[in-house]
Amino acid sequence: MTETNKTAIKLYNTKTRKKEAFEPIDAENVRMYVCGPTVYDRAHIGNARPVIVFDTLYRLLRHVYGEEHVTYVRNFTDVDDKINAKAAESGRTIGEITEETIAWYLEDMAAVGALEPTKMPRATNYIAQMIEMIEALIAKGHAYAAEGHALFRVRSYEKYGVLSGRDVDDMIAGARVEVAPYKEDPMDFVLWKPSSDDQPGWESPWGRGRPGWHIECSAMAKALLGDVFDIHGGGLDLQFPHHEDEIAQSCCANGTDEMAKVWMHNEMLQVEGKKMSKSLGNFFTVRDLLEQGVPGEVIRFVFLSTHYRKPMDWTEKKREEAEKTLTKWKALTSALYDGAARSVAKTPVPTVIIEALADDLNTALALAEMHKLAKDAKHSEEACIQLAVSMAFLEIEWSSPWQSNFGSSLEKILGDPAQLEPYERLLSDEREKAMTTKDFSKVDQIKSALLSSGLEVRMSKAGVELDVTPDFDPSKLEGLL
Ligand code: AMP
Ligand code: ZN
Repeated sequence: MTETNKTAIKLYNTKTRKKEAFEPIDAENVRMYVCGPTVYDRAHIGNARPVIVFDTLYRLLRHVYGEEHVTYVRNFTDVDDKINAKAAESGRTIGEITEETIAWYLEDMAAVGALEPTKMPRATNYIAQMIEMIEALIAKGHAYAAEGHALFRVRSYEKYGVLSGRDVDDMIAGARVEVAPYKEDPMDFVLWKPSSDDQPGWESPWGRGRPGWHIECSAMAKALLGDVFDIHGGGLDLQFPHHEDEIAQSCCANGTDEMAKVWMHNEMLQVEGKKMSKSLGNFFTVRDLLEQGVPGEVIRFVFLSTHYRKPMDWTEKKREEAEKTLTKWKALTSALYDGAARSVAKTPVPTVIIEALADDLNTALALAEMHKLAKDAKHSEEACIQLAVSMAFLEIEWSSPWQSNFGSSLEKILGDPAQLEPYERLLSDEREKAMTTKDFSKVDQIKSALLSSGLEVRMSKAGVELDVTPDFDPSKLEGLL
């Protein structure tokens, strides 16, 4: 692949607070790390946001650089006090809980159309690498051991706070930092902590214990993507302290200037205008929605309709609208017949769609372009093919219609396109007669009956062609033949 004809991608970099031209370190291997879930329960609807956002970016990168040239790593945090608490309360083992939750997560994220990342490391498989990194930090004076803990010495890293634009002294003044006797400074954060006999633990130079959360991502990213890679992503809630701490650990241990070139953060999801919370009763999981019969594609569509850097509101109204739009689009694209349907696989993704996504993942604009295509698709097979290609690119099924009020009547006809033929013949015969009699009233009458039933009528020298539109109602054709 040559450099010259690559789509120019622009991404907003949290680190510089600017939209920047994306230049991979190595175009042969574009590398992205996204912080994954802590696995102790079903993913809530908010957890699906980074998954869908970075899945879209992954698809775009694969499109531009080639499928084999993008490495996407998303971890599973399978050691955490919330997991221990769940195990204790349910009487099950930690392993059972994490395995079950990982399987649920993969199932639910597949249901909303997300590709699996290239690698999905589990924190507990990288304990040795974490210990090694902590040892390097201690050796360089960036960390210290105290009372079975290892702590990162925040003041030893002068760039601490740069990502989130915070000043260490302000943080101390305003923060709820834990003041523990073993800390040299209240800002220092835990790299390793001791485990009691009933907690999961690994032998380490500081005694039996377990890692702090932040060190996981630094160790896994280094092991799988190297010391410096292209893109690091996650939800905005992770910007501070999690990502700030990842940067401090990685840069100090690896002796590098930066950990990732571009830092990306998706804004948070709310429900009906309110922060999702169990106490407000507006907390639900992806699985809850799927079980209520909300198709994964509707969830995906609603998410894509808001730009990832804007807060997103999940509402019943948006769900309904998404369902209507997708039903309409699918009715159009699934009506493509043989040759046209086959050409979908060979047609490139429309430039307007790629350009929208390449502009800092403007998914809302991409969907607006698809609405335009859908409008044109009623008269143009070409537009309909482009709509189908765009849907396929965003992992929305285009080749079969949805069962719905109008969808089912549409299906009766679509299942057998030959059913439209008698109407085509009727109109064509009447037109032929009218050519000699010069009386077109019957032709006009039939044509308007066909149109008002929701059919599209194309009359040319070659003959008459009918097509269904989403408004098609076959009952209106009764008595016409
Ligand atoms: P957690 O399992 O809580 O560590 O979260 C996994 C991922 O989901 C992280 O990237 C979080 O930033 C993200 N996340 C959690 N809650 C929300 C929310 N309400 N909206 C958007 N992203 C979220
Ligand atoms: Zn992380």
